Amino acid sequence: MKQQRVGQSDLRMSPLGLGTVKIGRNQQVKYPTAFDLPDDAAVTALLHLAWELGINTLDTAPAYGESERRLGELLPQRHDWVIIGKVGEQFINGQSFFDFSAVATRQSVEESLRRLRRDMLDVVLVHSDGNDMAIIREQAVCDTLLELKAEGKVKAVGMSTKSVAGGLWCVENMDLVMASYHPDYQDELPVLDAAARLGKGVLIKKGLASGHADRAAGGGGIEAALRLIFAHPAVASLVVGTINPDHLRQNVALTEAILAAQGAVETRRK
Ligand code: NAP
Repeated sequence: MKQQRVGQSDLRMSPLGLGTVKIGRNQQVKYPTAFDLPDDAAVTALLHLAWELGINTLDTAPAYGESERRLGELLPQRHDWVIIGKVGEQFINGQSFFDFSAVATRQSVEESLRRLRRDMLDVVLVHSDGNDMAIIREQAVCDTLLELKAEGKVKAVGMSTKSVAGGLWCVENMDLVMASYHPDYQDELPVLDAAARLGKGVLIKKGLASGHADRAAGGGGIEAALRLIFAHPAVASLVVGTINPDHLRQNVALTEAILAAQGAVETRRK
C-alpha cells in the first residue's frame, strides 16, 4: 500500500492501519463475539503479516490493557512503524480511569515510551471519555501534549474525539483528529470536511462498526464501509482492529482495489 503524508505533518501512514485493542484487552469491549487474547506467537505472526502487506501504522493506548507492553516486546522493525498512542485513560483491574491533568499526561507518555521501548512517539491523541469540550476547556491535556511536541517527545498530537464540536476544535488547533465514520454513522462528517479544507489529517476508528459492518443496516458490509471511508479526501489512515490474519489480508486487498479504482478515475478526469 502506498503510504501517504498525514495532513501537514512529516508522518507517512499506510491507508490501512492496525488497531491493537484485541491483542491487549478482552474485558468490557463491544465486539460482536467474545475472544481470547492471541498468544505471543500469533501476535508476532500478525505483526509480521501486517508489515509484509504494507501496513506501517499501529494504533495503541494505555487503555488497551497489555497492548503497549506486547508491542514493545514483539514488534519487528520497531523504529520503522508509525505508532499512534493515547493519553487520558487507563484500564486497571477491569475498570477505566480518566485523568487529563498535566502531571498524568506527562507520566502517561513516559510510561508508554518505556512499554513501547522507544524514545519518541509518532502520534499521541487525547483518549476522550466523551466530554470532548469539557476536556478541551477545563483540562491541561491538550496544552501539555503541545508542550511535549515542542520538547521533541512526540511528533504530532491530536484527540480521539466523540463529538462534532470536539472534532472541529481539534482540527483547528491540533495536528490531527481521530473520528468515527462508517455507513451507519456519518454524524462526524463535518469534522472530516473541515479537516479537508484546513489540510489536516483524519484517522478513522470504528470504520467497520466495531465488527458489526457485516450486519449494518446500509448493506454492502465491509466493502461498502471501506468505499465510503476512502472516498473522503481527508482520511489519512483507517485503523481497523483485527486479530484474524485472513481478515487482515481481506481488508488490505479491498483497500488496494478501492484505492486503485479511485486512482484510475482521477487519472481519467485529468
Ligand atoms: P473496527 O475496526 O470497526 O472493527 C473491528 C472488528 O471488526 C473486530 O472485531 C474484527 O474481528 C472485525 N473485523 C475486522 N476485519 C474484518 C473482516 N474482514 N471481516 C469480518 N470482521 C472483521 O472497530 P474497533 O476495533 O472498535 O476500532 C478500530 C481501532 O480503532 C481499535 O483497534 C483501536 O485501535 C481504535 N479505537 C480507538 C478508540 C478511541 O477512543 N480512541 C475507540 C475505539 C477504537 P476479527 O478480529 O475477528 O477480525
